[in-house]
Amino acid sequence: MRFRTGVLAASLISSLLAACASAPHADRTRTAKAAAPAPCPVDPSWDEPTAPRHIYANTWYVGTCAISAILITSDAGHILIDGVTDKAAPRIEANIRALGFEPEDVRYIVSSHEHLDHVGGIARLQRDTGASVVAREPAASALERGHSDRSDPQFLSVAKFAPVASVRRIGDGEILRLGPIALTAHATPGHTAGGTSWTWSSCEGATCRAMVYADSVTPFSDEVYRYSENAEMVAAFRKSLATIAALPCDILLTPHPSASQLLERLDPTSGIGLVDTHACRAYAATGSEKLDTRLSKERADRPGNVPSQKQPTPGP
Ligand SMILES: [Zn+2]
Repeated sequence: MRFRTGVLAASLISSLLAACASAPHADRTRTAKAAAPAPCPVDPSWDEPTAPRHIYANTWYVGTCAISAILITSDAGHILIDGVTDKAAPRIEANIRALGFEPEDVRYIVSSHEHLDHVGGIARLQRDTGASVVAREPAASALERGHSDRSDPQFLSVAKFAPVASVRRIGDGEILRLGPIALTAHATPGHTAGGTSWTWSSCEGATCRAMVYADSVTPFSDEVYRYSENAEMVAAFRKSLATIAALPCDILLTPHPSASQLLERLDPTSGIGLVDTHACRAYAATGSEKLDTRLSKERADRPGNVPSQKQPTPGP
């Protein structure tokens, strides 16, 4: 494994790098914990940069203020979860370097769901790192096309993104292995049809934590799609929420850090603990409430409240 000794902006990160260059892994993670990145602004843009953060053991936050990107490291190479936007991709790479790792050592890139804010930077990151991109259908096809299809409740309102050259398929429950890393894909459709949550174990010494990157659980849609007219999707959504609630879950991470107060939980002065074995259940319960609210609203909004036979309009 190579570590950079080159240009770094923040003196805080410089001291971290000095430790990285010479210290074994345990010392590297300890030093990283001392880093205190500048706080993010209130309501940041997707691309608002922020310094990388140590999460736990071999797991790091390399995303922006508003969108997560998670790096899982090993001596056999690294796995990156989510690529934020095309504009933010260079910042993700800079964050990886600032931690003392090389983007070229990223072997796999996986994602939460097929929307611009989480996969828009993957094409560039794939080109720059040479990593294999791995995704579950229908997200895998969406990545190759550069846009989702009508299976996506937000299909008509979301922007296209740079297509990814080649995507390896992974199925529900399959494990992506890289050296000591075992990353499990969990099908969690609902926010999109290709929504995927990821779990792995990160260990500091003998203390291993069940890490969960749970996909977004918000039932947003464009002006045409109605969850109440897509019983299969609603059933799949409820199953996804049950899946997330049942996961072994010590540390919850989410594609939008604000959805799990992630950046606050990574700030030791916030008083909010990083480890919370109830967090996945609470996150799923919030998603369930939002889905119920959404379905009630759709029913209330129907003309005359008469059950509609209308099918959603297929997209182009
Ligand atoms: Zn989304």
